[in-house]
Amino acid sequence: IGSVIDRTAERPETIKWEDIGGLNDAKRDLKECTLWMQGSYEAYKRLGASPTKGLLLYGPPGTGKTLLAKAIATESSTNFLAVSIPELIKGEVGESEKAVARIFATARRCSPCVVFLDELEAIFGSRDTSGNLGQKVEFHLITQLMMELDLLNGGSDMVLVVAATNHPESIDRAILRPGRLDQHIYVALPTMEERVSILKLLCSKSNVTDDIDLEELARMTERFTGADMQALLRKAGLCALKRQQGLQTVIQHQDFLTAITSLKASVSEEQQLRY
Ligand code: ATP
Repeated sequence: IGSVIDRTAERPETIKWEDIGGLNDAKRDLKECTLWMQGSYEAYKRLGASPTKGLLLYGPPGTGKTLLAKAIATESSTNFLAVSIPELIKGEVGESEKAVARIFATARRCSPCVVFLDELEAIFGSRDTSGNLGQKVEFHLITQLMMELDLLNGGSDMVLVVAATNHPESIDRAILRPGRLDQHIYVALPTMEERVSILKLLCSKSNVTDDIDLEELARMTERFTGADMQALLRKAGLCALKRQQGLQTVIQHQDFLTAITSLKASVSEEQQLRY
């Protein structure tokens, strides 16, 4: 049981809001519903409002859901406990539930804490043809997870659960009810302007010439995710190295243009329409 937590617990890299390009709507919504984590819990209590204890980030893969979860933790100076649900369900019947209990106990002990549940859909994975849950281990695990969410006293426990999924349609509605993962935030593919921001951010951390036409690159990368943009930069770097090896190597606009010809968006138009 301990190994599940040990393998998945981590200190957040210091990802701040400003390290995430675009995603303006998601960032605005997250800042609002995590305000209480930044010390305004008492103010909430006085207003009779109950702070959000669970969020679901959903959207195509590679759009920055993990980055957003890390930024919540960094910006509110909390601990960060990351749990991969596919790893968790590998456990024996009974073991995974105990691991969930341990994860929440650990989160309370090191509160304030963000618990990040990645690939939440995996817990609802196997269903029979009538849509009923399949394996017993998952059923008990879901029950345990919901119980832990119900027991969490958001504000006073100072624990926020952030789950992420690429398959919101697979998530059982019971876990999305008020008091559980009740805030649902769509992390969309970046717009043209957001792609400019992401490219600008990535380029600012790399050795690039100042003739890069970000607008042109953004126009040529329709449906690219943040992760695709990262891959583009990597590929452009390789093109630059092929052109000229050495410490002086700088990525030029032409390297990006060459790189784009060999890459395509990882999310298809059809996949995008599912959200
Ligand atoms: P998955 O659903 O596949 O787990 P995800 O939505 O959690 O993906 P991340 O893991 O947050 O995506 O992003 C993958 C990588 O892509 C990041 O480490 C980062 O390098 C880059 N990236 C994604 N989105 C952005 C963004 N908006 N700004 C800057 N970099 C980004």
